[in-house]
Amino acid sequence: MQFPLQMCCLSALLLILGCNSAYRTTARELGIPHAERTVEEGKVRLVAPAGSPVQTFEFTVGQRPAFIDGISYYLNRPAGTRDLSRDDIRILRAALLAPVVSKQTLNLLIDPGHGGTDSGCRKGDVHEQKITLAIAREVQAILKAKGHNVNLTRPNEKTTRTLDERTQLGASLKIDAFVSIHVNASANPEAKGVETYTLPAFGCEGTLPNSPARGPLAGHAHVVASTRLAYYVHQALLAKDETTPDATTIADRGVRHAHFKVLRDTPAPAILIETGFITNAEDFARITDVAQQKQIANQIAEGILKAFGSVTTK
Ligand SMILES: [Zn+2]
Repeated sequence: MQFPLQMCCLSALLLILGCNSAYRTTARELGIPHAERTVEEGKVRLVAPAGSPVQTFEFTVGQRPAFIDGISYYLNRPAGTRDLSRDDIRILRAALLAPVVSKQTLNLLIDPGHGGTDSGCRKGDVHEQKITLAIAREVQAILKAKGHNVNLTRPNEKTTRTLDERTQLGASLKIDAFVSIHVNASANPEAKGVETYTLPAFGCEGTLPNSPARGPLAGHAHVVASTRLAYYVHQALLAKDETTPDATTIADRGVRHAHFKVLRDTPAPAILIETGFITNAEDFARITDVAQQKQIANQIAEGILKAFGSVTTK
């Protein structure tokens, strides 16, 4: 069947107009109305003018995985055909594009995952709880030396702490942030890299399979600050170590969302870092090496400070 010429022209015109207006509202509401917008075959790219705290946003229509300045970031809801969800626009603008009130002295609670009777994941006689404690102690030492108040949720390898005790400690200490450190494991030995989790926004699903929306939860009040913290810590963890020329690039598995207990119930900005896979040879070598544990701790500390405006990098 042949369409009259006028109709073809009209469809083409509507298509062009449609493309031109797609993501215009998102750009305006993110506070970057003059961003260069490219929409092509379901791929959306916004490039903010120079001077913006974030330069590039890349989305795929109908999907949650996105890239923000090249860092993998899962949206709270799939990107729409014409715009991002209201939740994502609000969170991204407040977390990454709005000016930050810098905080000079931070009150932090670092949570070395597992411990005591719960050793976490393991490979041979290497236990997750030892790795997480070693990294957490380093983070504590680095940030204490810079004048911040830093507590750990458990003092040693022997102490067992329930998740309730950990979140209650967070509430009693009136913390600025809770940072939980973990090691990942997978049946697939190829799975490798870093994941950083926040609570999904209220009404949104987690990124793990079968992770329906829940709440309201204590953590929902802190989703913006948690997102900011997760993004900058994750970005710092992926930065290549300049002092180790043969360092391999660390796989970016993204800032993701989950209803983990410590993210749900901590009444403060909270993130959970999966520093690497104990089941992957490359990651195993990285997370068990003392020098590299120090490097990971330095990166976590740098990300925390950047999120709170306590340092000016980049
Ligand atoms: Zn763990």
